[in-house]
Amino acid sequence: MPRELNRVKPQLEEDTDHPGGTEEFAPKAERVTKEVEPSIPRGWASAQRPRSTFNGPRITKENRFDLAADGEEVLIKFLDDIPFAGIYQHWVMTQGGRRAYTCAGFDDCPMCARGDKAKSADYFNLVVLGDTPELKVWIMSPDPAKVAEEKAKSKKGPLNRDGMYMAVSKVKGSYSIPAVSMDWVREDELEADWGVKPLTDEQLNQFNSKVFDSSVVRVHTIAELQEAARLLSDD
Ligand SMILES: [Zn+2]
Repeated sequence: MPRELNRVKPQLEEDTDHPGGTEEFAPKAERVTKEVEPSIPRGWASAQRPRSTFNGPRITKENRFDLAADGEEVLIKFLDDIPFAGIYQHWVMTQGGRRAYTCAGFDDCPMCARGDKAKSADYFNLVVLGDTPELKVWIMSPDPAKVAEEKAKSKKGPLNRDGMYMAVSKVKGSYSIPAVSMDWVREDELEADWGVKPLTDEQLNQFNSKVFDSSVVRVHTIAELQEAARLLSDD
């Protein structure tokens, strides 16, 4: 379960090699350098972005890949071999709808402490083929992520393999849990079976130069998570 790893907080290396504070006497090369995280840059505070305000690029309705549960196959080209971001999120019902909060990890997360279960979200860049191919981000819930991971690890992988496309579809499965299917489509099958032209190298380069990265993920502060955890308790 590699995705589980995302929940493990990066551990600072403790002085386990030299218990009892003998680190002082260790040769310099063996000393453990503790990195301070996050690093605080030089400069005026007013010029820094407050941590709780997110100004980065956003995933909007326009650039988010949304697969309708009507069984219709959509042809896509993955641009990433693995998710460009893999995170855990808590979902909270608010008056404005469902809101996602980035889990701070078992040890620190006020929402985990409340007993709320975080769900994985795996972010992929892809191109939806059609008359006008479009760059989209697929934020995969656990079910499609599982399917994608199987495809990625199959002999035809990786997901973004040259000359390979994917037909994806979603149906309402048993207990109305949506089930996502993915099927490899070879480049030479595109025109005959789908009536679309493969992406040119130029198009691919263009899309690859515009891909989203993990800066689209809004990381919530502990204070924000505490606030959200209070909303949970009203259930
Ligand atoms: Zn959590």
